[in-house]
Amino acid sequence: MGFRTRQIHAGVTPDPITGSILTPIYQSTTYVQPSVDEYLSKGFTYSRSGNPTVKALENKIADLEGGVDCACFGTGMSAVLATMLAFLEAGAHAIVSDVAYGGTYRLSTKILSRFGIDYTFADTADPDAVAAAVRDNTKLIFTETPANPTMKCSDIAAISEIATKAGAVHVVDNTFLTPYYQLPLDLGADISLHSTTKYMDGHNATVGGAVVSKTDEHAEAVRFIQNSTGTIMSPQVAWLTLQGCKTLSVRMDYQSASAMAIAEFLEAHPKVEQVAYPGLESFAQHELSKRQASGFGAMLWFEVTGGVAAGKKLMDNIKVWSLAENLGSVESLITHPVTMTHADVEPAERARVGIIDGLVRASVGLEDTEDLIDALAAALDQV
Ligand code: PLP
Repeated sequence: MGFRTRQIHAGVTPDPITGSILTPIYQSTTYVQPSVDEYLSKGFTYSRSGNPTVKALENKIADLEGGVDCACFGTGMSAVLATMLAFLEAGAHAIVSDVAYGGTYRLSTKILSRFGIDYTFADTADPDAVAAAVRDNTKLIFTETPANPTMKCSDIAAISEIATKAGAVHVVDNTFLTPYYQLPLDLGADISLHSTTKYMDGHNATVGGAVVSKTDEHAEAVRFIQNSTGTIMSPQVAWLTLQGCKTLSVRMDYQSASAMAIAEFLEAHPKVEQVAYPGLESFAQHELSKRQASGFGAMLWFEVTGGVAAGKKLMDNIKVWSLAENLGSVESLITHPVTMTHADVEPAERARVGIIDGLVRASVGLEDTEDLIDALAAALDQV
C-alpha cells in the first residue's frame, strides 16, 4: 500500500474491547500474566520493556521505514545513544559525520569517549574521506543527512558499501527528511534513526526518538539497550506521535514547497549573502539530493549581509516565525545554531565544518507561504 495509507493505518488496529479507532494510551506499569506457564503470552510484562501504545507507534514507524523492527525512545538523543551502546564497546572506533546535531557531537566527545571509544569526525559528504577514516576496529559509521545545521548531504549508498566492507554498522539519522522523502534502509544502511520530536510529531508537543533496524540481529541489540538503560518512550508521547505521523506526508509536501519558495526569495534578496537549500540548483549537492531522496524537505539556512549582528537583528525582530530551538513543527522556527543548538561544538570545529557565526537556520512550518515570505521581507528591511 502507498505511504499515505500506511502512515494512517500501519501498526494500529481498532481496540479489541471497545472498538476505539485510536489506540488507547495504555497507562499501566505492569501486565497481569494468565499463569506462570503462560508468562509473556500477551507480549507485555513491564512498561520499561514494552508498552502497547508505544508498540503501535514502533510498528508504524518500522513499516514506514521498511525495517523489521523499530524501538522508540524518550528523546532523539536516547535513540542516538542506543545505537552507540548497541554497536560500540571500549577499544572500538566510530566514524561520525563532522556536521551533525550538536548533541550527537557532545555525546560522542564528552561522554562516550570517556569509556574508551575512539571517534573520527569525517566529512561524510566525501565517501573517500569516510573510506580513509576506516580502521581495523571501526564498528559504527554514523551519518546525518541532510546534516543539522549546514544541510550537507552524504551519499547513503556509497557509505553503506564502505560500512559493509569494513564490517561496521551504518546508522543514518533520517530526522530531516523522514521516510516520506528518504529511505536509508533501501539505500543500503543498517539502521535509520529519528528524533521523532521533529516531523513525526510535527506539532511541538513531545520529545522522542526511534531506531529502525533492517535485521533481527540489530533489532535485538537495540531492544536490549532500550530495556537495560530504561530509555523507552512514554505512552502519552507515543500516542501523540501516532496522531502526528498520520499527516506526515501532507505536512512535508506543503512545508517543503514553502521552503523552496522561501529559498528562492532569499536567494534573490539583495540583503542575503548566501542560502543553502537542497532544492536550489546552487546547492552543492543538489544532484545527490535528487538522486537519493524524493523531496528536499523544509530546512534551510541563510546568511544576512552584515554577518552576525544583522542576523541577530533579523531573528530578534521577525514576526510569525518564532526564535526557538527545535525544527519540523507546524510552527515556523528560526534558530541561531552558534548560540543555541550547536553552542557545545568548539568554535574552531564549528568554523572547520562550515557552521559560520552568521548562519540563520530556518525550519519552515505550515503557515501560509506568503505570510512567511512577507515576515522575512519585513525583517530584512529592518537590518
Ligand atoms: N538528530 C537530529 C538531526 C536533531 O536535529 C536532533 C535534535 O535537534 C536530535 C537528533 C536529538 O533529538 P532530541 O532533541 O529529540 O533528543
